[in-house]
Amino acid sequence: MTSPARQHVQPIGTTDLSAGFLTRELKEGVFLLTNGNYQTIFFTTGEGIVLLDAPSPLMSYIQTAISDVTDERLRTLVYSHGHTDHIGGAAAVVGSQPDTAIEIIAEAGTTEFLVAKDDPARPLPTFTYEKTFDEYIGARHVRLFRDNFHSADGDTVLYLPDEKILVAIDLMAPGWVPLLDFDITENVFSYMRAFDRFLAFDFDYFLSGHTADAAVRSDVELTRDYVMDIYRTVKRLHDSINEKELLSEHRDSEQEGIKRIIDTVTRQAADEIIDRWKDRTMRGTELWTESHARAMVLYVRWSD
Ligand SMILES: [Zn+2]
Repeated sequence: MTSPARQHVQPIGTTDLSAGFLTRELKEGVFLLTNGNYQTIFFTTGEGIVLLDAPSPLMSYIQTAISDVTDERLRTLVYSHGHTDHIGGAAAVVGSQPDTAIEIIAEAGTTEFLVAKDDPARPLPTFTYEKTFDEYIGARHVRLFRDNFHSADGDTVLYLPDEKILVAIDLMAPGWVPLLDFDITENVFSYMRAFDRFLAFDFDYFLSGHTADAAVRSDVELTRDYVMDIYRTVKRLHDSINEKELLSEHRDSEQEGIKRIIDTVTRQAADEIIDRWKDRTMRGTELWTESHARAMVLYVRWSD
């Protein structure tokens, strides 16, 4: 048997995407796979590869990336959450190995969502856990647990305690501010607090599903500080607006007045935050801050 070529494995700091993708070996046998925009993780266990998610843009690279580094075959697919951009390639992954059964693991909320969706591109899990999964898969200690920072149907967070790798898909993107509306979270309250929940873990690398790089603690802390600055800024501005005056300008239509309040606080908060963060190391400040400010106004006004 020939040993794997490892021609697509690149060290941290090198990003050559001329093959369309690359892998990085974060810890022995644990690989980040990325096309530059989407990323996921797969790892050896001695008894078959475990892969997290199957983003459609990575589909054509998954089998090549695995066989480039190991003779183990894909045996387990874990769903982080039900969104189509992260697991829409799952049926194709299963179909790419017709001779090998692939176990699909998901949390109960994700399974419930997928049963209701009945989407052939997102095959139903073959194993559903509730709240926590803490087991050895082959030689690898794997912890999965439910969180709710992103999807209303629940998120599965993956933790490898021996390798100190934490994976929470769609929390953030290292080097960037979050994508619009706090990475399209369906729960701003839980999203804000997720950073400290995850920072409480002992980890060397933090994967969140996007960019060509693994985040480290300082990336998670920086994104948290940006998010919490938006919260404090929006709260201060919202609490200090003269609501009576703004509403009285639209005496005939309270709804117009409410829109005016949302628009005013969003604009003021976005201006302040862009000014404070535009020279920091995160990209996308001018692109997405207004959407974050707006999402935060809705949270502050109706849920905080
Ligand atoms: Zn998502």
